[in-house]
Amino acid sequence: MNIDRKALWAVRQSALPMVVRPCLNCSGTRHHPSGKIRVNANGKLLDVWLLLHCAVCARTSKVPVHERVHVSSLEPARRVGYETNDPAAVRELAMSASLAAKNGYRLDWTGTWELETDTPFSALHDPTPLKVLISFELPAPVRVERLLMLGLGLSRTEVRRMVADGRIRLPLTPGAKTHRDFELTIDRR
Ligand SMILES: [Zn+2]
Repeated sequence: MNIDRKALWAVRQSALPMVVRPCLNCSGTRHHPSGKIRVNANGKLLDVWLLLHCAVCARTSKVPVHERVHVSSLEPARRVGYETNDPAAVRELAMSASLAAKNGYRLDWTGTWELETDTPFSALHDPTPLKVLISFELPAPVRVERLLMLGLGLSRTEVRRMVADGRIRLPLTPGAKTHRDFELTIDRR
């Protein structure tokens, strides 16, 4: 008996989230990370900012990352990442929930991800139960039913019906949002 049909669905990053906070120059509220980090050294003390551009007027603004930290308190590799605008360092700061909380802004994850699946829709009609592992490459909060709609090519109503019928078994409710890996089972019988 084949009970080992498994699939991997990956939530892949397609863009960085937008920073939502008021622009000081216009009525815009959405900001793109500019891809740059500014480091100012004052003796042994460093200031580090993430630079943003307003999506409407392109005004540059700064998010403080470190203020007056001693140079020895930053790992050398991290410091070099900041000084060279390393895309990995920009990505980490731009997606940081703690930086957002510290600076009082919200992250907008709309349009930051796409679902990559290794299962053709036809494989989903196979009567053998299919286990699907959903893995997240970024901490974008995504509604569970949205993943199912994309992954299965079904409407929200159809997804909800399959969950209600027990043909899709989930550790979460379909309307819940998550950014953590989880497993579900699809059983067409
Ligand atoms: Zn603006």
